[in-house]
Amino acid sequence: MSLKVGFIGWRGMVGSVLLDRMRAEGDFAGLEPVFFSTSQAGQSGPPEAKGAALRAAQDLDALSDCDVLVSCQGGEYTQTVYPRLRKQWSGYWIDAASTLRMDPQAVIVLDPVNGKQIQTALDRGIKTFAGGNCTVSLMLMAAAPLFQAGLVEWLISMTYQAASGAGAAKMLELVQQMKELSSAATRTPAQNALEVDRAMTEAQRSTELPQAEFGAPLAGSLIPWIDKAVPNGQTKEEWKGSAETNKILGLEPPVPVDGICVRVGTMRCHSQALCFKLRREVPLTEVEQLLASGNQWVRVIPNEKEASLHELTPTKVSGTLSVPIGRLHKLNMGPEFLGAFTVGDQLLWGAAEPLRRVLRIVRGEKAVASTV
Ligand code: NAP
Repeated sequence: MSLKVGFIGWRGMVGSVLLDRMRAEGDFAGLEPVFFSTSQAGQSGPPEAKGAALRAAQDLDALSDCDVLVSCQGGEYTQTVYPRLRKQWSGYWIDAASTLRMDPQAVIVLDPVNGKQIQTALDRGIKTFAGGNCTVSLMLMAAAPLFQAGLVEWLISMTYQAASGAGAAKMLELVQQMKELSSAATRTPAQNALEVDRAMTEAQRSTELPQAEFGAPLAGSLIPWIDKAVPNGQTKEEWKGSAETNKILGLEPPVPVDGICVRVGTMRCHSQALCFKLRREVPLTEVEQLLASGNQWVRVIPNEKEASLHELTPTKVSGTLSVPIGRLHKLNMGPEFLGAFTVGDQLLWGAAEPLRRVLRIVRGEKAVASTV
């Protein structure tokens, strides 16, 4: 009998990347998929629905009929539906939202890093799995071996986060802002940089620039604040860096992780500048070997201009599962201080891919090699 898997939030950013990846990897074979919607019940679903109408995502009985539920719908939905559903249903819940990540009964999934923890949890009867914060997952895909070798005393991560991390509407607003700025520039003689700059700045400051989503211009600028404030001066995004890193790796005592999270005008790749304080002096060649051994998607990029320009950018990485880490060098602060820079597609390893893979693991399969 095939496994009945319900998908909620499948038409959003994360959900549609998840479905694309499942198609590319042949993951629908042997599944009986059921598609839900909070707003379009009764309408048609994707091709895999084979003509069946979308079910209402608030219908607890329809949800309970599934063996596994995969939700990419968002935190509010999880908060409302999950506790009520759990009173009548004991299936597997796989979720992109942050709501359940710190629940002691839930595991944050990133199987190339914590596959053993996921398997142990399954063996113990744990049935709730949450994808991690995109920035944390991408940092760990690149750098987990340093933590796992017990080498990290603390980490500062300064992030450069893409618009897609905030959802589809924000990506579209960024593009709209870009269009407005370039049209302001094209109305100005192109050979005069100062005049072009003046026209661009005027367009950025204009009340006509669409900014309902971000609340500020992002094109040609940046926003040094992501998510809401938490009491100690951090943002929630910055708080997640420490909380989720330590939970995913099961570190005890916890390793301090902190930094400043910044939204920049890239579409779907997050980048991070990392400063590690190592517990001891480790030669760079050893660091490089450790990092390269982490998983099959990480790539250590030589700390050279050409390689950094061509291999270590959002443009290169976008739409791929590759996670390059480069700019590796000892910092002026001393031989235990290591600098690095890493880039990753936050819709793939940052969101959809860990969910896709944990669904396969729940189905009892070993994670398969990916084709991207
Ligand atoms: P999203 O793009 O805003 O989609 C969420 C839901 O909005 C859709 O499933 C759909 O649900 C509804 N929707 C309304 N109008 C839509 C339209 N025109 N097109 C598509 N969907 C529409 O949200 P998301 O960025 O995928 O994020 C989903 C969850 O994943 C959130 O909890 C988020 O925090 C988490 N997450 C996101 C990322 C990321 O990179 N974006 C990374 C990690 C985790 P109905 O069919 O029910 O209407």
